[in-house]
Amino acid sequence: MTAPDTTIFERMSGLAREYGAINLGQGFPELPEPPELIAAAQAALAERSNQYPPMRGIPELRSAVANYYARTQGLNLSADNVVVTSGGTEALAASLFAMVAPGDEIILIQPLYDAYLPLVQWAGGVAKVISLTPPHWTLPLDDLATAIGPKTRGIVLNTPNNPVGTMLTRKTLEAVGALAEAHELWVLCDEVWEAMVFDDTPHISPLAIPALAARAIKIGSAGKIFSMTGWKVGWAVAAPHLAARIAARHQFLTFTTPPALQWAAAEGLGLANSWFDAERARYAALKARLVRGLEAAGFKVLPCSGTWFVTIDLAASGLPADDAMLAERLVREAGVASIPVSAFYAQAPETGYLRLCFTKDETVLDEAVARLAKFRAQLD
Ligand code: PMP
Repeated sequence: MTAPDTTIFERMSGLAREYGAINLGQGFPELPEPPELIAAAQAALAERSNQYPPMRGIPELRSAVANYYARTQGLNLSADNVVVTSGGTEALAASLFAMVAPGDEIILIQPLYDAYLPLVQWAGGVAKVISLTPPHWTLPLDDLATAIGPKTRGIVLNTPNNPVGTMLTRKTLEAVGALAEAHELWVLCDEVWEAMVFDDTPHISPLAIPALAARAIKIGSAGKIFSMTGWKVGWAVAAPHLAARIAARHQFLTFTTPPALQWAAAEGLGLANSWFDAERARYAALKARLVRGLEAAGFKVLPCSGTWFVTIDLAASGLPADDAMLAERLVREAGVASIPVSAFYAQAPETGYLRLCFTKDETVLDEAVARLAKFRAQLD
């Protein structure tokens, strides 16, 4: 099990450029960006210090993260729980480098975000991989229990899940908590999509589960919360003794994160709930538009709660269920780039699902649907 040199996102974006295709592959918005955040960053650049900020992050952002999670998820946190990093990716790296010792077995759950496997391996860990069960992508707790052995030290979770957009329930997290407690495991939970939930499914962090509160690490990302993926401001949130270990790794990864963007993120997290509701509504409308268009054209879209993605069930849509081959054909023949869900597997992939990103202008989504519909009609 080794990670590829080039990520699927880079490959599909490259093909999209080469063929002039609409890029519904890589997850980034091509939409107006929040003016409040841009203004806050501009003001901070002009008016505040641009020298090294504190290693763990400016205190204002660390407090803002704690307050935001108190307000939105009922978590009881303070700045001592928070380590600011250069994106969720660095928070994942610092956390795994802090927690994994050579030879440790770490349970990963596929489909999985592509950074987990190489980071576990670079830390000297051995990945044990189990799979969510389609089409609802539920976590098979029996498989999880069976995968835990004497060398197992940790579990990596992701909710809402990229690529499939489903979320872990409190009941599932409580069951994970019982296992983690019984086997003395830590739980790393990638929650970067927590603000991008478009139905009324509650986002539950392992930090909200009593059995996990002292053994869980929560990963967040301002790039996702504010829909500016290039900002690369993220954080790890954990009990103070774990946060200190993560900070010690962060110190020698990037040491710190651009201060103006930290100030802006701190200001952004303090915006009123109505601001976040309006952002969610803007994205929910685009998701609904893409889903409606795809369904009208005969595609079967799987239900999901969060992220910027929807997943097409290929067999149920009357398409050949070889997602990698189909993604290549779609970019070349239909002019639409997508991501095959099989790329999110470390072994024994599901090959019947394709991921599409909906954070594009309405006219772009409509054109993509028209192209996909034409391609599908030609197959009949
Ligand atoms: N985890 C998941 C599941 C993601 O989808 C992403 C970004 N696509 C990240 C982490 C990385 O977040 P950031 O851009 O803040 O590094």
